[in-house]
Amino acid sequence: MMELQSETDARIIDGKATAMKVREEVARRVAALVTRGVRPGLVVVLVGEDPASEVYVRNKDRAASKAGIEARTIKLAADTSEEALLALVAELNADDSVHGVLVQMPLPEHLDAVAIVHAIDPKKDVDGLHPFNVGALWRGEEGLVPCTPAGCVELLDRHDIEIQGARVVIVGRSLLVGKPLAALLLARHATVTLCHSRTRDLAGVCREADILVAAVGRAKLIERDWVRPGATVLDVGINRGEDGKLVGDVAFDQVREVAGAITPVPGGVGPMTIAMLLENTARAAASRAGIAWEELI
Ligand code: NDP
Repeated sequence: MMELQSETDARIIDGKATAMKVREEVARRVAALVTRGVRPGLVVVLVGEDPASEVYVRNKDRAASKAGIEARTIKLAADTSEEALLALVAELNADDSVHGVLVQMPLPEHLDAVAIVHAIDPKKDVDGLHPFNVGALWRGEEGLVPCTPAGCVELLDRHDIEIQGARVVIVGRSLLVGKPLAALLLARHATVTLCHSRTRDLAGVCREADILVAAVGRAKLIERDWVRPGATVLDVGINRGEDGKLVGDVAFDQVREVAGAITPVPGGVGPMTIAMLLENTARAAASRAGIAWEELI
């Protein structure tokens, strides 16, 4: 059945199409790097057999190869020791053909995820989670930025949504999404509020936002009356609905009636995450070779 859309419905921000553009640009830069003798290399390490992780990793591999990046996945048994994983990370750190190292989270419980993240060479930390990169981001210094927040900023920029001076409310304060996104938007002169599970009057705070970002992991938490008319809504959440379909943290059908622009799930922020991972890998390779990113297009 054809979907009817009223004139006042939000503009849908097509993350899939935007991600394809970013990926094409990365592919062009990778081609330029290759002509200079540098083939960017990405290694994803997957420990155990988490089905969702396997899908992510396969998608990452495929997208990287399409962009001309030498991509490899190393699968380790679920009972791999921390010592063995640290030894592998050390080996990848020392390998000049590897520019990006990503250890897929979550890790089995017996492994200390913090110790693993600390062990990755910050210059190869394409997830941007090493304390060196976290610090660089807050200090405004050069470093690798986590892929999902970088993808959110890219979406805003490429869809002409003004960041400077905007009131941004981010629901979710994780190291992976909420906090780095706050740092990025603050650096771009937004006024940023970070919310979490103990925020009082969450709906009221959300209603103040020009740009509202949901990164919680609770299906359809953000309802229509939480959103100021005309606001931009970025939905980072990925949840499985009762019917098995993917749903975001935003009640999309209601919120699209009031928002000015909105990202769908799937097809919004998700595809941007992979695109930015490819960009980070190419950036890491360029930086290692002493080639400025801007020189490559
Ligand atoms: P975390 O579980 O690490 O963080 C969730 C955050 O939401 C926490 O800060 C938590 O608060 C807050 N929160 C939980 N419940 C509520 C509530 N009822 N009201 C307000 N705040 C609440 O999740 P992530 O940041 O890793 O991921 C968030 C979502 O984004 C998930 O659905 C995940 O699957 C998705 N995701 C999507 C990606 C993509 O590529 N599109 C990439 C990464 C994640 P507190 O700190 O107080 O506990």
